[in-house]
Amino acid sequence: MRTKQFKAESKKLMDMMINSIYTHKEIFLRELISNASDALDKLYFRSLTDENVGMNREDFRIDITVDKENRLLTIADNGVGMTAEELDKNLGTIAKSGSLEFKKDNETGEDVDVIGQFGVGFYSAFMVADKVTVESRAYGSDEANRWVSSGIDGYGIEPCEKESVGTVVTLHIKEDSEDEKYGEFLDSYRISSLVKKYSDYIRYPIIMDMETSRLKEGVDTSAEDYKYSPDDYETVTEPRTLNSMIPLWKKNKSEITPEEYNGFYKDNFMDYEEPLAVVHSKTEGAATFNALLYIPAHAPWDFYTKNYEKGLNLYSKGVMISEKCADLLPDYFSFVKGLVDSEDLSLNISREMLQHDRQLQVIARTVEKKIKAELSKLLQNEREKYEKFWNAFGTQIKFGVYNDYGAHKDVLQDLLMFVSSNEDKLMTLQEYVDRMPEDQKAIYYACGETKEKIDMLPQADAVKEKGFELLYFTDQVDEFAIKMLMNYAEKPFANVCADELDLATDEEKEELKKENEDAKDIFETMKNALGGAVNAVRFTSKLKKHPVCITSEGGISLEMEKVLGQMPGAEDVKAQLVMEINASHPIADTVREAADDEDRLGKLAKLLYAEARMIEGMQVDDPVEIAELINELIVG
Ligand code: ADP
Repeated sequence: MRTKQFKAESKKLMDMMINSIYTHKEIFLRELISNASDALDKLYFRSLTDENVGMNREDFRIDITVDKENRLLTIADNGVGMTAEELDKNLGTIAKSGSLEFKKDNETGEDVDVIGQFGVGFYSAFMVADKVTVESRAYGSDEANRWVSSGIDGYGIEPCEKESVGTVVTLHIKEDSEDEKYGEFLDSYRISSLVKKYSDYIRYPIIMDMETSRLKEGVDTSAEDYKYSPDDYETVTEPRTLNSMIPLWKKNKSEITPEEYNGFYKDNFMDYEEPLAVVHSKTEGAATFNALLYIPAHAPWDFYTKNYEKGLNLYSKGVMISEKCADLLPDYFSFVKGLVDSEDLSLNISREMLQHDRQLQVIARTVEKKIKAELSKLLQNEREKYEKFWNAFGTQIKFGVYNDYGAHKDVLQDLLMFVSSNEDKLMTLQEYVDRMPEDQKAIYYACGETKEKIDMLPQADAVKEKGFELLYFTDQVDEFAIKMLMNYAEKPFANVCADELDLATDEEKEELKKENEDAKDIFETMKNALGGAVNAVRFTSKLKKHPVCITSEGGISLEMEKVLGQMPGAEDVKAQLVMEINASHPIADTVREAADDEDRLGKLAKLLYAEARMIEGMQVDDPVEIAELINELIVG
């Protein structure tokens, strides 16, 4: 047999395969089964118009055999087969060489993970085999040929005997080494599970002999108290179809039970709890695809970490081409699990190319709409479930509103929920707005670590006393998200600790204005005594019981300052503070009475400012000085 050389590029790929340290070598099986399935497709379609093929749909099959002793694994199909010329052309060169670029990563200079990115096809066999034989007889030919290669040195083609049309690929599996146990590919259970994992939905049966244990013939177990013993069983080898052939998502919805949907979810997405909702859809039009999407009932343990990988499994014609394809899910729906099966995508499309694939973008947009619609439906019809969803993934949705400068707020704003003061329950912004009294101008919120702490804020009293509802923002992201929305249903958001609340009547406002003007000099003295800690001191009418509070002016609230203060580079972001004194509290009179006593005003300013900071949960800058002032008061 004459040895022929591989084409230059094929040689490179072959070399990579042989020396591969790629960790997912198992994908070779998927590639070979997929080739076999394509060959079956070709002959099957031919059989539809050509009677001479003489085969029925159920005759087409793929057979796998393992021969442990000789370390042989074969994958045989009765598909269209190849002639000697085709063996030469198809297996001697890489058909898709154009797409196979041996790139180096621009930044690291390392070889790009070609194997991971491309369906590398037939040559992937050389990751696990040191010799590959392909015996094939093409449809319409009486001759068969054998292609043999032991790797880089080339390949040979010679005539051989083969009774029927089709192809048999035989791999001589590499010897085990310290690091690699290639022998696993000679274990029929391992092979069977790989078929299930990658090729379950190949439309032709994939058949392999499997050992099973069964009751020996003639064992009489009819007695009521019959005790089975191991001797009653025998081990037999039986051909078994390994793949289920029909994907769940290709069945009609009406034929699928909730148990099947849930079982599929638990088996495939590593969850012990049933999902909250399932979306099963068939889409035709700009893109034709099936989708099976699940909304989990709880966040995976690593969900809010960097390690979490979002994505949907991507199938092309029943073959999985990408696990967790990230481009199919926007970040704010990263919790969704599931898969997409498209007829339009090529099996060998690379991950890089997927990102730019127009078809995939269309699919991703449709998927996003379906998820949004399902969540809205849940919110409308199954409130309890939606609240469970919200508790698990609400933070992600809120980040979604905030990220990308609010680009997705329109998609997400109706999904938001916050706890409110009226009922101590989660409510949507729409529900809040629907319940607003006519004279309420804004959507009020307050920030704090917990609901209880917010309830203690002096600024919250005025809003609640007016009968207005207050939203509790206890998540750090809450206020950032709301700043992106700016308003909802044309109602602005107002932070009770920061914004001008405008709760007073015109007369009250007028009166307060006058009181503030009268006390202008007092406040100037107090502000100076605080040494620049606040931008202003003034009277307020919004406090009820408490004598004093701190509010902020401008875009940065105190809560935002706390969050930003922990971020590198944003430590200097400061809220502009105002100390507000309750104009109708006896302490206001004390302040007024001290008008001419600069020293006393200074001390009062420091004490009141410290008090207000403590109520806000902030640190007091100079506790020793404050303690001394208190002692002075106590001693009198
Ligand atoms: P791809 O499948 O992406 O085209 P491969 O390297 O896997 O690339 O295979 C190259 C070609 O060899 C296939 O396109 C097909 O024409 C042929 N081939 C591979 N396996 C078989 C098979 N089992 N039966 C018939 N033809 C095959």
